[in-house]
Formats: sequence, structure tokens, C-alpha cells
Amino acid sequence: MSYLYSLRLALDPGWTDERGLADLPRFIEAARIDDVMVFANVEELNTGHTDDLERAVYRDLAERTAGVAATAGASMSLNPWHTVMHGDYGRKLRAGQDFRLMVDPDGRSAQLAVCPRDEHWRRYLADLYAFYAAARPRFIWVEDDFRYHNHWPLEWGGCFCEEHLAEFSRRAGRPLTRQEFVEGLLRPGEPHPFRTIWLETAREALETAAAAVADAVRGVSAETRVGLMTSVPLVHAAEGRRWEPLLRAFSGQRPPAVRVHLPAYADRRPADYLALFHTVSDAHRALLPADAEVYPELENFPYSRFAKSRSFLRFQLLGAQVLAPDGMTIDLFDLNGNGPVWDEGYQDVLAGTRDYLDRGLASGVFRRPRSGVAVLISEDSATFLHTAAGGSMTGLYPREYLFGALLGGYGIPFRYTTDTTISGQVVAVSGQLFRTLGEDATRRLFATNRVVVDAEAVDTLVDMGLGDLVAARSVRWQGSEDGVATYEEAVGGVELLDRAGARASVLLMGAGIGLVDYDAGRARPLTRFFRQGHVDAGAGHVLVDDRVLVVPFGRMDPLEPPPVMLRTTLRQQLLQEVVSAWAPRLPLLVGAPDVAVYAYPGPEELSLYLVNGSFDALRAPRLVVGDLPVTAVEADPSTGAPGAVGFTLAGDGLVLDLELAPLESVLVRLSIAG
Ligand SMILES: [Zn+2]
Repeated sequence: MSYLYSLRLALDPGWTDERGLADLPRFIEAARIDDVMVFANVEELNTGHTDDLERAVYRDLAERTAGVAATAGASMSLNPWHTVMHGDYGRKLRAGQDFRLMVDPDGRSAQLAVCPRDEHWRRYLADLYAFYAAARPRFIWVEDDFRYHNHWPLEWGGCFCEEHLAEFSRRAGRPLTRQEFVEGLLRPGEPHPFRTIWLETAREALETAAAAVADAVRGVSAETRVGLMTSVPLVHAAEGRRWEPLLRAFSGQRPPAVRVHLPAYADRRPADYLALFHTVSDAHRALLPADAEVYPELENFPYSRFAKSRSFLRFQLLGAQVLAPDGMTIDLFDLNGNGPVWDEGYQDVLAGTRDYLDRGLASGVFRRPRSGVAVLISEDSATFLHTAAGGSMTGLYPREYLFGALLGGYGIPFRYTTDTTISGQVVAVSGQLFRTLGEDATRRLFATNRVVVDAEAVDTLVDMGLGDLVAARSVRWQGSEDGVATYEEAVGGVELLDRAGARASVLLMGAGIGLVDYDAGRARPLTRFFRQGHVDAGAGHVLVDDRVLVVPFGRMDPLEPPPVMLRTTLRQQLLQEVVSAWAPRLPLLVGAPDVAVYAYPGPEELSLYLVNGSFDALRAPRLVVGDLPVTAVEADPSTGAPGAVGFTLAGDGLVLDLELAPLESVLVRLSIAG
């Protein structure tokens, strides 16, 4: 078993294919590619929904590519680039294409993107996949436009066409206008029954289409796997997606194959990338069936090293290891048909990183369950969450992924989980997840775990009549720009930044500040908010009964990294001190920003994977490990050979004699006395 490099290749048949195919074996060898995924009818070359003549050209290209790739030892896969169609971009349906078009919540109709409930389209799509499957690809991938959201130029997406409205009306038991249905769907407060009607209708149509595609492929090429390309899971939540049934509809009896989204098509600040990697890719992994094979999306847009550097490409490969991937889909070159551009040098990065990825896969470490703070999430939260006034479909996006981003940046091991019955753990909950859990599961969670919550979670508990669980009577939201609070300050003898009374700003934070009215007898403030004139504005970070930590911020944009102002050394230290008191043997990396630590317990050992998302080298990392009896340390660094590592164990600190360069990673194995 080895890691699969699947190169996504766009050639233009009749124009650039001969040169591209002639060059392909050399690139396969240089970049150590295992599989070539042929694009059909892609992006700039896309002519809309295709007829048999156009498909024949691409199937012929796939078959010729398979022959060429085989000479270099690689397989062929196929990526028909459209299902409902990404967006119109000036194209329209043609004569004879009697598909029903997608309509957005405002009633605007697409010209090319279709309604996922349309039976004509479903048959067309199944035929299209059957046609391509005859080339016998290893994988045939379903493009990520297989969704309701993001179909330019529609507002959000669809579908609210007349036929959808007829179905919504049928389920509601009375005739509905579009406006009436959308208003109900997005109504603030307790969810209206239209919410469930929307989510179930949406889910069913795509599961039905998935089964039709899979049946069609299997009828032609039994050995071909049908994989699904996906987008941001919290956005998929707003269209009612349930991962297990959808993926099983595609994969049948075999493990599902999923191209998980990696949240950077171009270089961005590595710390921000890591934060989004945690809220998008890492969270998504936790929502997938355990047997799913993951091939994440390493993509470059808008192409060339002006968008993606070699260093960032490598950083993404190394970071994605925590998804326990079976390989990577690699989309580095433009989609106009140029094919690989050698001057970019990406082939050297791919080849040079490959041994490390193979070793990671062979070690089996990344397949193990992670330990650390358990961040609870659910794919069902769009059913239960309360929207804000002024409804938009984005109001259905859950905000329960926050703590993965925060803990990852703070060097605190964590894992996402959907298991609401866990006990004896440190659990982190943000957003409105408690509504999804319901009262009984929420009470049990607090009774059997230590819990970290954000201010929106506190607000949710108060609204559910469960404020007592966090000793809260009410929450008053303040903006971070209105001057009610401008900084927070450590109180009650708490020492942070090597001093008493340490401060961190809360001005212009980009987050809501939750001023909570607590039962003073149970709440112990670790910080308090102040404004100019040193006027006390209320409790900040608070420990309740020494079992709950309230982080007094919330309501941040879930599609963005946590605001830069939120993440400070003071707040890192504060969170680390609370977590290490509650979980003394959980290794926390101290004194370093934006180095993620992932913990994988094994028999008589603990493996840690460190990924450096800062621009500074990490020298002699110090981990707080409590009384963990470490007897030996080995390391497999991304930049050198594996081997034993010197260490000192003094007090509760473990100092490792190694250096971790920016954007690099290391797998560390701590032997533990039995
Ligand atoms: Zn429709």
C-alpha cells in the first residue's frame, strides 16, 4: 500500500493533447505520479451540458491517456467536470436539452445550472457517467458542483423552482409561494417546519441522483470506483447533507472515496490556513464514515507560482497527513489545456515529499483515533439552529467548529467528534450545538465531562432554559467596536505573560463579546472586561464550579479563520493552564504560536505530529506532559532521517532536542513506561 498521487490533467483534445500526452510519461516519472485524472469538458473549455459527440472526444482522450500513463506505470481516472453545472458564465441550455433550470431564493433562474430534482437531468447524468465509465477509469469522480450552493449568478444557489415549490407545498399540505416558503425556512427563533421540508427535500434529490450515477457506472465498469468531490462541510449542512447515506449511494459495497476540500487555492498566511484546515478539512474527516478513503484537494488557482509557491504546496501535503489520506488529488496547472509546466518546479516538491508521505501511511499512526480536547460537531445542526433576523441561506451555517481552529493554533491536541455520549473528557462546544443535542444529552455531557464553551453556547443554554449548567442567568452581546469593553485583564491572582493583571485587547476584535450575568457563588472570573477609565464592564473568561470554562466571545464568521485579535499569547496560556489542570497528561506545546500538535495514543507509546504553521523555527520544543513517564523519544522529521532524539524531562516539562523549520512537520514517538 502506498500513497496515491493523482494528477488532475486538463488537455484540449485536437489542440494540445498530442504535445501533452507526449510529455506525460516524463512528468509522471519526475513527480512520482501514480494516477492521471483526465478532465472532461472543464472550466474555460466547458461547452455546457454535452451531447454524445462531445463526450466521445473526451472518452477517446481518456483512453489514449490511459495507454500513455500505463507506459509510465500510472493508472487513469476520469473527472467529468460538471453535474448540475458550477455556474452559467454566459452559457445556456441548447436545443433538445429540456432540463429544468435552478432557481434561487429570490426567484432568479439560472441559464445552465439545473434543478437537482429534474428527472431528465438525472437520466442525462447517469448516461453521461455510463458513457465515460466505458473507458474503465480507476476512479470516476463526481465534481463538487453536485450541491445546491454556489452556482453563479444565483444568490446563494437553489433550488426554489416551481416544481420544488410544488413539492414543498405537497409536504406542507397547502400551496406556498416562494417568498412564504423562504421566509419560513429562514425564520428567526424556533425553526419553522419549512426548515425540515427544505433539508429533507434537498438531501433526497442528491441521494437519488447519486444512486442513479453509481448504478450506471457499475453497469458498464464494475471495477471503477465512484468518488465524490466536496466543499465546505458547514455549507453542505445548509443543504441537509448527510455524509454516510450519500457516500454509500455512490460507493455501494466498497469504501467511499472522498476528495476533501483543502482551504487554500493560493498561498495564504500559514496560520490562517491551519485554522481553516481544522474547521473545514479536519472537521469534515470526522463527519465521514470510518472506512472512507480520503484524497484531499491540492489545488492551485489562478495558477503558476504567483498563486502557489513550492513551499506552500509542501506545507499542504504535510499538514494533510492528519486526515489519514490514502493519497492526494493534485490540480496544479491551468485548465485551458497547457498541461504540466516544468518551470514551476512542482514536480520536484511532489517527488521530494513522497517518501515522507509513504512512511506516514505505512506507519498507521494517522489512522489511529486522536486524543485531546473533544470538539463536538454534528452534520444535523442546520435543522435545529436559530437564525438571526434578516434571513439569508448563510444563516443556516453552524458555528460549532471554532475550537478546532483555536486549539490547533494554541498547540493543544484536539479531535473533532460526533459522539455525544462521551464521558470523562475535556469537551469543547461552540455555536448552537446544544440545540442539536437536546436537553438530556446536554445535561449528561456536563455531568460527565469538563466543558469549554464559547459565549454563543452559553447564550444557547440560557435560551434553552439550561443556563444553570454554566451558572448563567443571561447574556448581553456587545460589539468589539462600541467601547463598552476595550480590554480584558487577568484577575484573582491569575498570572499570565509572567505577571499579575496581564491584559489583552478586545477592541476591534471582529467577534461578538458576550457579557454574561453569572451566579457569583459558582463563577470564578479569570479575567474581567474593562473600558477606558478602568471601568469594570463584566466578567471575561470564567471558570464555573471548576468544571466549565467560558470563553466570552462568539458569533464569528464560520467561513473565516478566528480573528487575529482573538488569538494572543495571553489567551493561549490561559486555555493551556485550564486544559492541563483538567488533563494533566495531555502534552501541550508551550511558548509557540501556530504549531499544531496532534496526539495519537498507542500501546506503551504516544505519537505526536507537530506541524509548524508559523514563520519562525521551533527550537527545542517544550511540552507540558504532567507526570507522563517518558522513557525514550524517536522522531521522523519531514526534513531529515528518522532516529532517536535527545530529551530532558524536568518537572512537568518535556524538552525535545530537535528543531522544526517553518512550514515543516515532525512525527514524534514518546515511549511510555508501562
Ligand atoms: Zn428545482
